[in-house]
Amino acid sequence: MTAQIIDGKLVAGEIKAKVKERVEALKARGVTPGLAAVLVGDDPASATYVSSKAKACEQLGIYSEVIRKPATTAQSELVDIVRSLNANPKIHGILVQSPLPKQIDEMAVTLIIDPRKDVDGFHPHNVGLMLMGRGHLLPCTPHGIIKLMEYYKIDPSGKEVVVVGRSNIVGKPVAALLMQKAPMANATVTVAHSQSRNLAEIVRRADIVIAAIGRPRTITAEMIKPGAVVIDVGVNRVEESTSTKGYRLVGDVDFAGCFEKASYITPVPGGVGPMTIAMLMSNTVSAAEEFAQNRS
Ligand code: NDP
Repeated sequence: MTAQIIDGKLVAGEIKAKVKERVEALKARGVTPGLAAVLVGDDPASATYVSSKAKACEQLGIYSEVIRKPATTAQSELVDIVRSLNANPKIHGILVQSPLPKQIDEMAVTLIIDPRKDVDGFHPHNVGLMLMGRGHLLPCTPHGIIKLMEYYKIDPSGKEVVVVGRSNIVGKPVAALLMQKAPMANATVTVAHSQSRNLAEIVRRADIVIAAIGRPRTITAEMIKPGAVVIDVGVNRVEESTSTKGYRLVGDVDFAGCFEKASYITPVPGGVGPMTIAMLMSNTVSAAEEFAQNRS
């Protein structure tokens, strides 16, 4: 058996086309959605993510600003920047790109963001609503994973889902979304992490495996059950001297091995990554729609 490849670029393209229509409808009402991204420091991967997000905004007619600050930026300055974006009527979505330099308390910054502009869905207000099944601004990567499954008619209802990784931005929220009593959810969810014993045994139970680990090829073919759905969130740079960049991107899953055994699999790149950006665009437009609604 070989797996069907889940084409994140294709699905993200369709989602972005719908977002573009919503942008046009908002513009007809006199509101141009706006997204501000704050980039602190010079992490090359973060710079790439921020420029991809700005490029997507441009494609869809969303106004965007990128605020670049040096790695030495003080917490107080970052807080002032976020406060001024909260007050800026041109901006409906704010994202502060992680990782942040060590002098900055990431949680404190998240708490300052106006929850109505929290398009990453990381503010405890939005996290709480998501847990209660009432989320409006859902975290982009987890929501993107669900949209991918929906597109390929992979219904998690009643299935065993194993999420490997328990970060606040991927592992925990994707587990929370999949356990909801709701369509495209209703799964039996297990969350594994670095302290889990017998990871292979846990993963082998899964009808759907979601890997959000940040370690290349942690999930191998021997660990998955035949016919499992494999969603690879990981983005890892591995050195490759033959590439012009000097590296190539790989996921957390041994793609070649799992491809032979899974029913569906996401590639890296081109799987979950494009969905994260598409859902960020969608959240920005949702925030602008809410703003337009409250204004009228
Ligand atoms: P974190 O580093 O915050 O979390 C990693 C998780 O993996 C932790 O819960 C950790 O456990 C667990 N873990 C680490 N090693 C092992 C192991 N050997 N066995 C089992 N579990 C392990 O990462 P993120 O969640 O932020 O990101 C994960 C990956 O996804 C990264 O590669 C990141 O670049 C990528 N990513 C991709 C996105 C996309 O759009 N495609 C978006 C966001 C992230 P513990 O909690 O015990 O430390």
